Amino acid sequence: MKVLALGVAVCALSLAAHAAAEAGAASPPEAHFRLANGLDVLIEENHREPRVAVLVSYDVGSRDEPEGYSSLAHLVEHLTYRRSRHLKDYAGLELLGRAGVQTMNGETHDDRTLYYAVVPSKALPLALYLESERMGFTLESFDEASFAHEREVIRAEVQSKAPELRLRALILTALYGAAHPYTRNPDALRNLNDLGLRDAQSFFQRGYRPDNAHLVVVGDVTLDAGRALVERYFGALANPVAPRDSRVPVAPARALGVHVTYRSHSYASVFVAAYRAPFYGSRAHLAAELLERALRTLLTAVLVDQQRLALYLKFELADRDDDSQFVVEATPRQGVSYERLEDALQATLARVTPERLASVLREARSGLLEQEWMRLEDPLARAHAHVEALAFDGRPYAADERIHRLLGLTEADLAPLLESFSRPLAVVELVHDGGVGDAGVVEVSNP
Ligand SMILES: [Zn+2]
Repeated sequence: MKVLALGVAVCALSLAAHAAAEAGAASPPEAHFRLANGLDVLIEENHREPRVAVLVSYDVGSRDEPEGYSSLAHLVEHLTYRRSRHLKDYAGLELLGRAGVQTMNGETHDDRTLYYAVVPSKALPLALYLESERMGFTLESFDEASFAHEREVIRAEVQSKAPELRLRALILTALYGAAHPYTRNPDALRNLNDLGLRDAQSFFQRGYRPDNAHLVVVGDVTLDAGRALVERYFGALANPVAPRDSRVPVAPARALGVHVTYRSHSYASVFVAAYRAPFYGSRAHLAAELLERALRTLLTAVLVDQQRLALYLKFELADRDDDSQFVVEATPRQGVSYERLEDALQATLARVTPERLASVLREARSGLLEQEWMRLEDPLARAHAHVEALAFDGRPYAADERIHRLLGLTEADLAPLLESFSRPLAVVELVHDGGVGDAGVVEVSNP
C-alpha cells in the first residue's frame, strides 16, 4: 500500500508542476464591469489567434415560460434573428457571413438564452453592433407575418426531435412533477397553436433588457479598445420602465424511487436512472465532475464490456441553475430485461468505494485538466465558461483556481457523493413495443 500511495503522490506532484508551469497562461488579462444600464460585461484579452468571440446571455429561458406556453422562449430567440430598426430581414446574418464569421448560433436553455459569434478580430465592431440591435431594436419589428413563419419553423424542429423531447419530458416530469418550471409540457405542438404575437412581445420585454444580460468578449482585442466598443454600442440602450423580475429559485427534484415506463412503437428502448448531485454553484460540484468521469469509465467497463448487459452507456452530470443530477442512460442488449440491467447497475454502484475509485481517478483527473487546456485555446469555449461562472458566482471563470482545486481533490472528497447512488431519484424506461399506438402508454409507480 505504501508503494501505491507514493506512486499517487508523485503523480500529483508532476501534474502540479505541469499546472504551475501553465498557470500564468491560464489567466489572460480581463476586465469585468457593469454599464450604467446594468449590463454585466466581461472582456478577456487573448491574442493567440486573430479572432474574437462575442457571447450575449440573457437570464431568461424555458423555465420562465408560463405554464402552457411551451416553446415561447425558443420562438422569441428565432424572432430576434429576423430584423430590427436598422436592419432588414436576416441582414445581420448576411453581414456576419460577409465578414467571415467562423461560427454563430442562438441557443435556448432552461435557465438562459445565448447568442454568439466568433469573428475575425477586425469584425468585432460588427458583432457587437448586431447584438446591440438585438437587445435594443428588435422588439418593434416583431409582426404577425414573421411570428407565423417562425412558429412553423419551431414546429418542424419540435417534430424532428420528438423522441428526445419525449424522453426528456418523461425524465423531468418524474423528477419534478408536472407543474414545475423545469418540466417541459409534453404537448409542445398543441401549445404552439395557442401562442400569439402578444405573448412573444411580452416575453421579450421581460427578459431581453440590459440589466438582465451578460456580454462576454474573448479574444484578440485589448481591454481598452474592447471597453470603448462596448460603451459605444450598448451604453445608450435603456431598460423598460417596469423593474426587472427577480427570479424565484425553483425547488430541487423531490422524487425518490419514482418508476416510469413508457411503451411506444415509435421509439427505441432506452433505460435512464437519475441520482441526486450537488448543484453547479456549490463547492462539491468540481468533485462531482471528477466523479462523473471516473464512474463513466467504471460503469462502462462493468456493464458494457464485462457483463455485456448494455450495448452502450452514457453517464453524465446534468446541470441546471438550481439543481443537478447524475444521469445514467443505457440500451440493454437483446434479451436483457430492464430489471436485470437496473439490478446490475445498483449492485455495481453499491460496490463503488473511494478505494476502488483510485484506479480510475488519475485518468479522470487528466481528462478534466486536458479540458481546461483545450478551453484556453478556444475563445468560444472560454466565453461559455465565463457566462456560466457569471450566472452562478457573479464572477468570471477562474481556470487557475479550478486547476488548483482539481489537483487537491482526493478520493475522500468523492466519498460523500457516493451516498446518492444508494437509490435513484427516478428511473425511466422507454420500451419499444410494436403493439402500442402512436401516443404510447405511460405507467408510473411511486414507491
Ligand atoms: Zn431553433
